[in-house]
Amino acid sequence: MNKTLIILLLLVTTTLLGQTNHRDSIDVLHYNLHIDITQIPQTTISGKAIIEFSPLFNYSDNFGFDLQKLTVDSVKFNGNVVDFQHTNDVVRFVTTQNYNVTDTLSAEIYYQGVPAKDPSGWGGFYFNSGQAFNLGVGMRVNPHVYGRCWYPCIDNFTDKATYDFYITTIPSHTATCGGVFQSVAPDANGNKVWHWKIEQPVATYITSVVVGELEKVEFSYQGLNGQIPIDIYCKPSQVSSATTAFADVPLMLQIYENAFGPYPYPRAGYTVVNFNSGAMEHVMNIAYPNDALTTSLSSQTLMAHELSHMWFGNSVTCATAEDMWMNEGWATFCEGIFVEGRDGYEEGKNYFLDNHRYALTSAHTNDGGFIPLYGVSHENTYGTTVYKKGADFVRSLRGYLGDSVFFAAVKLWFSENAHTSKNTYQLRDFLTEKTGTDLTPFFDTWIFNSGFPHYAISNFSTEGNQATVEITQSRLGGRYIGNANKVNVSFFQSPEVYETHLIEFDGKSGTSTFNLPFNAKYAIVDYNSLLADATIKNEYMLYGQQQSFSSQSFIVYPQTTTDSAWIHVTYNFVKPEEHGQIFDGIELTPHYYWTINMESYGNFRGRARFNHTTSQNPADSVWKPEPNDRIEMLYRALPSQPWTKIDIQNYLSWMGGYAFVDSLRPGEYAFGIWRYDSVSTPAQLENQKCKVFPNPAKNRVTVFVGNTNCTEIEIFSINGLQIEKITLDNATYIEIDTNNYKEGAYIVRFMNKSALIESRKLIIAK
Ligand SMILES: [Zn+2]
Repeated sequence: MNKTLIILLLLVTTTLLGQTNHRDSIDVLHYNLHIDITQIPQTTISGKAIIEFSPLFNYSDNFGFDLQKLTVDSVKFNGNVVDFQHTNDVVRFVTTQNYNVTDTLSAEIYYQGVPAKDPSGWGGFYFNSGQAFNLGVGMRVNPHVYGRCWYPCIDNFTDKATYDFYITTIPSHTATCGGVFQSVAPDANGNKVWHWKIEQPVATYITSVVVGELEKVEFSYQGLNGQIPIDIYCKPSQVSSATTAFADVPLMLQIYENAFGPYPYPRAGYTVVNFNSGAMEHVMNIAYPNDALTTSLSSQTLMAHELSHMWFGNSVTCATAEDMWMNEGWATFCEGIFVEGRDGYEEGKNYFLDNHRYALTSAHTNDGGFIPLYGVSHENTYGTTVYKKGADFVRSLRGYLGDSVFFAAVKLWFSENAHTSKNTYQLRDFLTEKTGTDLTPFFDTWIFNSGFPHYAISNFSTEGNQATVEITQSRLGGRYIGNANKVNVSFFQSPEVYETHLIEFDGKSGTSTFNLPFNAKYAIVDYNSLLADATIKNEYMLYGQQQSFSSQSFIVYPQTTTDSAWIHVTYNFVKPEEHGQIFDGIELTPHYYWTINMESYGNFRGRARFNHTTSQNPADSVWKPEPNDRIEMLYRALPSQPWTKIDIQNYLSWMGGYAFVDSLRPGEYAFGIWRYDSVSTPAQLENQKCKVFPNPAKNRVTVFVGNTNCTEIEIFSINGLQIEKITLDNATYIEIDTNNYKEGAYIVRFMNKSALIESRKLIIAK
C-alpha cells in the first residue's frame, strides 16, 4: 500500500459516510413554510414545506430531511411526486438521476399531525392556554436543535438558510415569526395568512412561530446601521406591563452595539408566551415567559441574555452542541455587560462575582463533577458549567486581554463571521490572530481542562521600596497547571495607596521583583478580580458596624465602636499549601481557606466568624468530617509559614457550623480536622507524639510521627504477623491504604532504626 492509495481510500470513505448522513449531504438555501395553525384546540398543525437546496457531494441521488412525529402525506421532488420513506424521524427519497453540488433542487413536503414536545418538558411545540408556539431547542432530544418538530428541515447548528413563513390563523389570531413582517391577507376560508421573511441565513432552531390573540407594543432604537424597530407582542391584558418591562430594550441594544458592533438583524422582537420556565432566543422573535414581565433584575437580565444571543448564537452559532459555551457562556456574560452598562462598572462587577460564586460552588454539583467547557456531554449541553463557568471564562478573557483589545477583537469576530457557525478552536485561533496574543495556553487553562485555576501569593518580601512576590498556581476541580499566566498583583502602602503590576509566568509559580514608590506592607493577587480564578474577594471599611462578607462565608464584629479598620478578604476555594508539617496531625480542609488583609486604625479589634460547611463541595468525598471528629482552626501570618492551631469558640459540628476568632489578624485561616480516635481518650490523643487516625479506620489511615525520630513504621496483626514495613524518609506523616486490611485490631510500631519508640493499637472497621 502506498500513500496515494490511502488518500484515495479516504476520499471514497468520506463520500460514502457523507452520503449516509442526510444532514451532511444537503445545503438548504431557502425554506418556504406554509403552515396552518388554525386547529389550536385540536393541537394539530398542517403544512407544506418547499425547500430549495443543493447537494454537498457530486453524484448525489438520495436526500433526507428531519421531521419528527408529524405525518407526511406526499413529497414532490423538482415538481414531481416521488416515493418516500419516513423512518427514524427522517423523510428520505431517491432520485432517478444524479445531482451535483452546483444544482439547485426543490423538495415539497406535505405533512400534518400533532407536533412533538421534548420529553423533559422543555422544548418543542406547545399549545398552551389558547396559544400555539415553539421553543427551538429540546433539553433531551438529540440533536438539541428542534426545528424538526414543526417542519421538515436539516436540523443542525451549521446549515443556515433564509425563510419565508406563511402562517394561517383564525381571524382573531395573530402569527409572529422571526424576520420581518411582510403582509397579512385573508384566504379562501376566511382565515388569515401571515407572511414573515428572514433574509439573513439562520439555523433552524432559532426560527419561530407564535399564534394567539396578540397585540403589539412598539419601541425603536437608532442603531449603528439605521433604525431598528423593536416589536413586543403580548396578550391584550399584558400591554401595560409589557410597556414598562421592555422599556430598556433600546438601552440593551445600545450597550451591546457599543460592545460587540452592529445589531445583526433588521428588527428586534419578543413575543410573550404562555410559558413559565425560561426564554428562547428565536431570531428577531424571542419567546419570553409571561411570568417575567417585570423590571426586576432577574427579568431584565433574562431579557438582555436573550437579546445578546442575536450576536452570540444566532449570528455566529456554535458549530456543535459541544461548543455550546460559545452561545450560552457569552450570553450569560452579556447579562453582566448589560448591568455594567446600565448601572455602572461596580454593579456589573458584583453581578459577575455572583455568577462566579455560583460557578465555583454549584457547577460541578449540578453537572456531576468538574467538566471542561468544551466537549460537554449531551446532558450537560445546557448545564451550569456551560452558562456560569462559560461567563467566567469570557470575563477572564476580557481581563487577560484588557478591555480595548478584547472588545475590538470581539467586534471583528462578528464583522468577519456574521451568519456562520464556528467551533471553539476557530474562535481561539481567530482571537489569537487578531489580538497578537497566543491564546492556546489560556484556552487550555480555561476551556479544555476541567476546573478553575487558582493564583495565590506564596511568598512576599520587601527591601526598602523593592518588593518581591512569588505567585503559585493550583487548581480547583482538576490537576492542570497552565502556562502563559498573566496575573496582576497590587502592592499596598495603605488601603488607598497601592500600585498594580503584572506578573507573567509559565507553570506552577513565578517570582518578580518591583521597584515601588513606597514600602509595601502587603500585596493582593488580582485585586480587581479580572480573572475568575478559584477565589472570591471583597473588602469593606468598618466603622464599628458588624459586617457580613456574604460571598466569603465570613463576618466581622468590631469590638470597639470608635476605631475603624479596612478588611479585605480572599475566599480561596482550594486546599491551602501546607509548607511544613501539618500541625500535630490535623488534616487541612482541601476545600477552602481565607486570606485576610487588613489595616487597623486606633485600637480596632474585630471578632471574626468563619463558616464551615461541607456543602461547598459535596461531590468531593476526600475530606469528610465524621461524627465526633474535632474541627480545629489553623492560622499562619504568612503563606510561607507552617500552620498553627489557634483558639476558637467552637460552634462546629462535623456537618458544619462556625468558629469565632477573638481578634482577627492579617494572615490565612483554614479549618482542619482532628480525627476522632476511640482507641485513645481525648487527653491521651492530645499528648501523643505519634498518632494513628482515624481510629477505627476504614480504607485509609494516617500515621503521624511529627518530629519524633521515627524512621520506620511496622504494622502487625494482633497475632504477631507483620503486615507492612514502611520507611519514612524524613516524612512527618504517611497515609496508608487499608483497603486490603481485614477487619480487626492491629499494632502500629513506631521505630527508630530497630529501636521501638512507641506502639499504638489500630482498629480496622469496615
Ligand atoms: Zn441563552
